[in-house]
Amino acid sequence: MKIQIHGAGISGSYLYFLLRDEFDVGIDDVRAYPDCRCGWGITYKEAKKLYKGISINFDEYILSKPRYVITDSLKIKNRNIVTFDRARLLSELWKELEFKKIESKLEVDATGFKRAYLPRIKNDKIYSAIQTIERHEVDENIYAFGSKTGYAWAFPLGDGKWHIGAGDVTLERAKLLVEYLRKIYGFEEKGFECSCRAYIRFLPPSKCLPFMNGNVIGIGEAIGCISGFGEGNTPSLFSAKILRDCLINSNLEDYEMRILKEFKWIEIEHKFIEAIQEGKIFKFLLYLLKVASIEKKRTLNYSFRDVLSIIVNQIFRGIMR
Ligand SMILES: Cc1cc2nc3c(=O)[nH]c(=O)nc-3n(C[C@H](O)[C@H](O)[C@H](O)COP(=O)(O)OP(=O)(O)OC[C@H]3O[C@@H](n4cnc5c(N)ncnc54)[C@H](O)[C@@H]3O)c2cc1C
Repeated sequence: MKIQIHGAGISGSYLYFLLRDEFDVGIDDVRAYPDCRCGWGITYKEAKKLYKGISINFDEYILSKPRYVITDSLKIKNRNIVTFDRARLLSELWKELEFKKIESKLEVDATGFKRAYLPRIKNDKIYSAIQTIERHEVDENIYAFGSKTGYAWAFPLGDGKWHIGAGDVTLERAKLLVEYLRKIYGFEEKGFECSCRAYIRFLPPSKCLPFMNGNVIGIGEAIGCISGFGEGNTPSLFSAKILRDCLINSNLEDYEMRILKEFKWIEIEHKFIEAIQEGKIFKFLLYLLKVASIEKKRTLNYSFRDVLSIIVNQIFRGIMR
């Protein structure tokens, strides 16, 4: 089968390598060089396994293994989040991509938040994000500061470099969050090496249907493979792997069901964020427990005390600010 992949971001380029030995694959991108707009955080175990599938040693791209995730009210031991050199990894993959458009039976929409080939999503939610690369002498932890609708982050990139950024419903709110983050953790504003604006889709897969339309099928953020906390790297890679499995086993009709099943945890995280945004206390408590249990397995070493502290903190703030 001939397959054309549109978008050579993290999911599209990965899918290309997964398929190139078994199919006739073309790939195209609107950009001349890879898009590096991302905090570069990723879940280590999953990334290592996924990239091994295309013969890449993920360890070579790790920049930092932060010890803790620190918010204004919590300090939680990190188990599985690392930062990686996404720009270098994608640049190296791009050198091996053969950019071309072929007459294809199947087209893949891997264009991220743009979703350029699938039908538009009714009531789509696209948030604004900003980010800079700066130098700071601060302990290598992940620092975060959240509001009702977004959060600011500081991700260590090793050698004193940091990604400082935020995502929220508007650019103004994102900028404000960065200001708070700077004040609280001491990331003084003193110039940057690089700065960007970007967009993030804030919807789970179930709200991004259809995943297939005619001969087009979506992967990655185009179909909502991004968590309520903005984690889209591993989910996007994983969606590409699911598509590859369906293609190899000639059961594309299972693709939608498999995506919805695999990313149930993303649906739950979005419900949790929804509860915060709506200020619904019981929904918040219910989903907090579910999210804590999901993330304990995936990323962080939560204790019961940590969960309790989140509850008390949010209740004192009226679950919002
Ligand atoms: C500021 C920011 C910080 C983030 N931080 C993190 C993080 O730390 N950890 C994490 O897990 N996730 C993070 N995310 C989310 C994550 O980066 C995305 O969810 C992920 O990159 C989505 O992968 P993708 O392959 O679907 O799309 P992308 O990686 O965005 O790739 C889409 C590609 O499609 C191309 N394209 C667009 N339109 C067209 C078109 N018409 N034709 C052809 N090509 C096209 C683009 O040029 C791009 O190369 C962040 C996002 C942002 C914006």
